[in-house]
Amino acid sequence: MKQVECDVLVVGAGAAGLTAAFTAAFHGLKVIVAEKEPVFGGTTAYSAGVIWIPGNSLAKSAGLQDSPDQVLRYMQEEAGSAFDESKARAFVEQAPQMLDFMLQNSHVRYQLIANWADYHPLRPGASAGGRSLLPEPFDGRLLGKDFHLLRSPIRTMMLFGGMSVSRSDIPHLFNATRSVKSGLHVLKMLLRYAKDRISWSRGTAIANGNALVARLVHSLNEQDVPIWTDSPVVSLSRDAGRVSGATLIRNGERIAVQARKGVILASGGFPRNDKLRSTHYAHIAQGKNHTPLAPPGNTGDGARMAIELGAGFARTASNPAAWAPVSLVPNPDGSTTPYPHFIDRCKPGFIAIDPRGRRFANEADSYHDFVPAMISACANDPEIYSYLICDHRTLRRYGMGVVPPFPMPIGKYLRSGYLIRGASIQELADRLSIDPVVLDATVRRYNSYAERGQDPDFGKGSNVYNHFGGDPKCQPNPNLAPIVDGPFYAVRLSPSDLGTFQGLATDSSARVLRAEDQQPIPGLYAVGNDMASVMGGAYPGAGITIGPAMTFGYIAARDLART
Ligand SMILES: Cc1cc2nc3c(=O)[nH]c(=O)nc-3n(C[C@H](O)[C@H](O)[C@H](O)COP(=O)(O)OP(=O)(O)OC[C@H]3O[C@@H](n4cnc5c(N)ncnc54)[C@H](O)[C@@H]3O)c2cc1C
Repeated sequence: MKQVECDVLVVGAGAAGLTAAFTAAFHGLKVIVAEKEPVFGGTTAYSAGVIWIPGNSLAKSAGLQDSPDQVLRYMQEEAGSAFDESKARAFVEQAPQMLDFMLQNSHVRYQLIANWADYHPLRPGASAGGRSLLPEPFDGRLLGKDFHLLRSPIRTMMLFGGMSVSRSDIPHLFNATRSVKSGLHVLKMLLRYAKDRISWSRGTAIANGNALVARLVHSLNEQDVPIWTDSPVVSLSRDAGRVSGATLIRNGERIAVQARKGVILASGGFPRNDKLRSTHYAHIAQGKNHTPLAPPGNTGDGARMAIELGAGFARTASNPAAWAPVSLVPNPDGSTTPYPHFIDRCKPGFIAIDPRGRRFANEADSYHDFVPAMISACANDPEIYSYLICDHRTLRRYGMGVVPPFPMPIGKYLRSGYLIRGASIQELADRLSIDPVVLDATVRRYNSYAERGQDPDFGKGSNVYNHFGGDPKCQPNPNLAPIVDGPFYAVRLSPSDLGTFQGLATDSSARVLRAEDQQPIPGLYAVGNDMASVMGGAYPGAGITIGPAMTFGYIAARDLART
């Protein structure tokens, strides 16, 4: 078998693996990144790329107050019995250091969104803003030919099948026909996109997680770190009790990689492993529906290979995965592509109803909170689904799912059956096979709350996180507006996940622990979603998977550089 040598082998090219690789290379180590798929970026390339970094220097410069004790208090409140104090302390201490290190030494750039509140702002230690950061957009052309190796965002999340939209573009898209500034912003986006499509397969003005991955890869290219795509790692090797490398398959050839210092597993958890999902996700174990969002390569290879060497797998997380509601967008060939509903639910004028036509949740709560509420609402049903409902004015103002706001046409979404329309609430209820009397009562009750600006049933619009996702121009409550102007519309939602929370047992240095005695397996590290989440199955705020993924990637690489 062909032999190759390096100091550190990184398994997987997402946020965790690429940050680990950059940090190790920066500290003088010879690094190889092996990526199973023909493209790099993993789930990170699909994501918004947001990172939760409490105590970060951008927030400090903006005068926002925070303290490690407050953050730890909040993480403990969120994680409950799954709180792992030593890992949490390592994260809180090193996350701001990781960010400063990346800002100073790599092309990674982030911006502060000062009012991006934590998801449970009333819990002790929560912050009203400063912990969640958004990646700066990036010019994909700087990657040269590697741009074609960057995983594209999920198709349903791009405009015109190839144009990236950053969170900071969204208000401009909503206001393109109302404000000159927003109109010009959107025009600039469109002109750049049209120019790009002459020579590129998609727009090169990239944003979100795609920009993060591109920035990391651009930084690694400057350090001459090879990223081997199409190179799945299939097994780990051991020498005198220490992990000494791995076997991978490249161009059909098996290659033994000797990693003098060690191996970092960053293969992105098991969201695309059908068998493991049906073991760990309770609703799938009950035979119910679930559509994953993660890319196909994330099949739990890191955990499998480590468990073969005696590693422990932690099952303490309160949720096995990070949940998100999706709608399924029909493709011309009859298949569907999921679209995650992050933005629309919280806007004023939207409610979600269960299969019987009743509200069941605060629609402006986080995606991770919304899905368990939907699962409970369908506890006695064979299938888990709900409908997001709005009226014509709201649809044209904000869009719904992949249906765009005015002035874009909506006909194709009605024709495909993605968007369901009724001239009246009764007609909409008929189309959804719901009792019209029940739906009418639900809408009337909600409308009376919208007029008062208070939702005593589910508390939509009752906290600063809800308001962050609302429309500040809508008064008296940025999350509540009545559903009155027909026709009325519905889009069907079902459960999905953003990635897994359960994973390998690790210590505060990201070293993988043996199941037998909880001692580190020398030379073996797990980061990102291969590692049991430091959040214990909770989702405290935007960026709580990629923030820790990058931080523990940084921690693992520095630990290896020291050994
Ligand atoms: C639509 C969407 C939006 C999201 N937004 C956010 C957000 O803004 N902030 C946030 O914190 N989280 C977000 N998430 C979740 C987040 O994207 C993931 O939790 C995170 O990217 C996981 O990072 P990772 O590095 O562990 O894995 P990944 O980014 O998935 O990378 C793992 C890589 O390992 C590769 N691999 C697998 N097996 C092998 C093998 N045997 N050999 C070699 N390579 C292998 C995979 O192909 C993959 O490329 C979002 C998720 C989705 C789907």
